[in-house]
Amino acid sequence: MNTKPIGDNSESLSPFNESACLYVDEIRDADNEASVLTPDDFRKHGYAIIDWIATYRETLEERPVLQATTPGTIRASLPSSPPSRQEPIEDILADFESTIVPGLLHWQHPSFFGFFPSNVELSSVLGDLLSTGLGVIGISWESGPALTELEETCMDWLRQMLGLSPAWRGVIQDSASSGTLVAIVCARERHAGRNLAAEPGQASKPAMFYTSTLAHSSVTKAAAVAGFRRDQIRIVPTRANGALDTDILRTMIEDDIASGASPAVLVATAGATATTAMDNFCELADIAEAWGMWLHVDAAMAGAAMILPECRPAWEGIERTDSIVFNPHKWLGAATDCSAMYVRDTDHLVRVMGTNPSYLRTSTDGAVTQFRDWGVPLGRRFRALKLWFLIRTQGVDGLARRLRRDIDHAHRFAQIVRTTPDWRVVGDVPLQTVCVRHEPHGLRGKALDAHTRAWVAALNASGKAYLTAALVDGAWLVRVSIGALMTEWPHIERLWQDMQKYAEQTSG
Ligand code: PLP
Repeated sequence: MNTKPIGDNSESLSPFNESACLYVDEIRDADNEASVLTPDDFRKHGYAIIDWIATYRETLEERPVLQATTPGTIRASLPSSPPSRQEPIEDILADFESTIVPGLLHWQHPSFFGFFPSNVELSSVLGDLLSTGLGVIGISWESGPALTELEETCMDWLRQMLGLSPAWRGVIQDSASSGTLVAIVCARERHAGRNLAAEPGQASKPAMFYTSTLAHSSVTKAAAVAGFRRDQIRIVPTRANGALDTDILRTMIEDDIASGASPAVLVATAGATATTAMDNFCELADIAEAWGMWLHVDAAMAGAAMILPECRPAWEGIERTDSIVFNPHKWLGAATDCSAMYVRDTDHLVRVMGTNPSYLRTSTDGAVTQFRDWGVPLGRRFRALKLWFLIRTQGVDGLARRLRRDIDHAHRFAQIVRTTPDWRVVGDVPLQTVCVRHEPHGLRGKALDAHTRAWVAALNASGKAYLTAALVDGAWLVRVSIGALMTEWPHIERLWQDMQKYAEQTSG
């Protein structure tokens, strides 16, 4: 790779300097050449890239899951300034292979058990490619009628797949973090409206926000972005099963009201990131209804499981909530970014998020859905395509079969861990994540934490598998998050052998 691109005239920036003049001439020369990729070139390189992706997926298992690299190595091997001249795609692809790919954690690897699955089914890649190739943008219905109407259709298909009633309408957001932010802003505005109506002329009371200790970091971040100060955010402890403790919540709310504040928002979690614990939506809905709070559900991960009727009792009460976010870009297999947000009161959503500048007005306004009014960005990608491709190529039955496979693997694996001396499954296994700890005799407290983190780090560094650790109830545990598209039982057996090997090695 050329590490000092032509035109890197870092010795002097003077336009009168000889090398700087050369630099300008080269730009002019480059301008005279064709400056865009022709459709023919695109076809040629596009086929090669599709081939590359197909081979990458076929041979992924031969690569280490995490490729060893040290901070700064990749940056140091890249030119520090942009090329002034056109470079052939072949060179870019060669550098991609030699410099970029070795600097990756391979999320689609069958031995990837970290975080949550971020599955990108190949059919979804094709839908996403079409979206990019079309280059259309949704800023109004008219700017891409099919973009809006396919999104409405896919969101309604997904609603039916989740077993939600027709009272819900959905929109695709870029992330669960954004969806939660939009929900919290809606909640804040509804609370402010009610507060003002109830007490004309009075200074409004501080609005209070509640969520559990196991809520994702995006929840409190969204609350802060939506203007809740730290003293307006209450973090509620959980019960032994990881569900928000509603007795403590009631007490907190009563105390807050007694000190002049007003409960406004409650964010519940379906499938906590550390443990996949589920809150109890019936209990939370009782509380939200009693105090007129907006109840938002972060089901970023567990939403996928709700396409399985046997999982739905876990979110009983969901119909009594106000908004839900669920990421098809996690376990379900849609390419990132694809986060489904469902809202019951879409009139309120549009009142809060809607804009109507003259340059966006069209003759169909009022008769069509304007998704720009359902979230923050104006320009929206054609994200529904990747979901459409996924759902149609897999069918609901195919998606359900894969999710059941992963849940079954998680339970089989948990049973093996439970019956192995010195190993423990921490808590329940509500979905596809098994939380474990290796507890050699005599190790406790900080020493046990250090051991837990050490064996995970050693296993990850080996490249044989990838796991994430998390701090729950003051102690570190290891999450075995099963559900990458290509993970079959032999990969889990191999993981288990490696877990035992690295845990033994680091305890010795
Ligand atoms: N909520 C939960 C429960 C999650 O597990 C995650 C990510 O793993 C998020 C929210 C954030 O999702 P996103 O990256 O789509 O913002």
